[in-house]
Amino acid sequence: MMEMKRIDIEEALDLYQNADLFDLGEMAHQARLQRSDPQVVTYIVDRNINYTNVCVTPCKFCAFYRTPANPEGYVLPDELIDAKIDELVALGGSQVLLQGGLHPTLPFSYYTSLIARLKEKYPSVNIHAFSPPEIVHFARISGLSIEEVLRELWDAGQRSIPGGGAEILVDRVRKKLAPTKCMSQEWLDVMETAHRIGYASSATMMFGHIETLPERIEHLAKLREVQDRTGGFTAFICWPIQSDNTPMRGMHVGPLEYLRTQALARVFLDNFAHIQSSWVTMGENIGQLALRFGADDMGGTMMEENVVSAASCTHRTNEQQLCRLAREIGFRPQRRNTFYDYLDQPEEVLCQ
Ligand code: SF4
Repeated sequence: MMEMKRIDIEEALDLYQNADLFDLGEMAHQARLQRSDPQVVTYIVDRNINYTNVCVTPCKFCAFYRTPANPEGYVLPDELIDAKIDELVALGGSQVLLQGGLHPTLPFSYYTSLIARLKEKYPSVNIHAFSPPEIVHFARISGLSIEEVLRELWDAGQRSIPGGGAEILVDRVRKKLAPTKCMSQEWLDVMETAHRIGYASSATMMFGHIETLPERIEHLAKLREVQDRTGGFTAFICWPIQSDNTPMRGMHVGPLEYLRTQALARVFLDNFAHIQSSWVTMGENIGQLALRFGADDMGGTMMEENVVSAASCTHRTNEQQLCRLAREIGFRPQRRNTFYDYLDQPEEVLCQ
């Protein structure tokens, strides 16, 4: 099979605007077959833990956060965090996605101690923690540099970073959606610095709001440039804005625009091995169809998810269902860890 040639920003725009949806999907599928195991769709048994919902950076698209003065604000006690991880371990889970709001008074030592404690207590579970806006927040509250924050978390045992908080990596958009959150270059610098230290990370894009199509592609181009230099992104995942219960309510992206955007991302991001379909936001059926539009991974089983569900997005599934979805569309489902190493699967999953 001939390797596809890299496309530039103009070619990407042209493809998005003019290609037949199914032709673009097929291009993305061929690219996926070249860049990841053609027989397999991977997934991870994981759990989201949102350690706090208190946040000093009100993003216009977020229904999850509470201001510091709001009585609904919380910080999870250690015992509750541990009880949640105990449940995950009982299911054979290998990853906790640990993210929270930008809390004004928790000291940086809270985060390093949390990582060190969980690493010691749960050696089989990777703590996939703190997206770039949190890392930038830790630097601001501690007076440390981004690199120093990342090195301290590394020394505490952290090895991977989720790609959240990217939204659209164009400052015109960020200044309107979340003016006090980290800007594009800070987000990219966190990831590039993290990759150089040895962390793996994912990359994301939340689209379908106030960005233009060229800005959506500019976002992809910035990710591709970092990946050319570091190779540290394990995967890319995109999802449309979930605007219910937020000031941006009414903004909506349909399934065809989602599939077109994901397919274009697969073609454009020629240095990414893995693309995750977003069944959490799009539902099982579109999440399954996305496996023929460039995705090779179903993401996590997500025992718990609070941020998207706060915007009334309530799709749920579990390991057996994810495996069924992959099989129905012609792939062998394969459990993986954060770093995309294959893991053993239990009999009841294999026999479905
Ligand atoms: S998306 Fe994150 S940073 Fe923005 S308001 Fe929500 S919790 Fe805070």
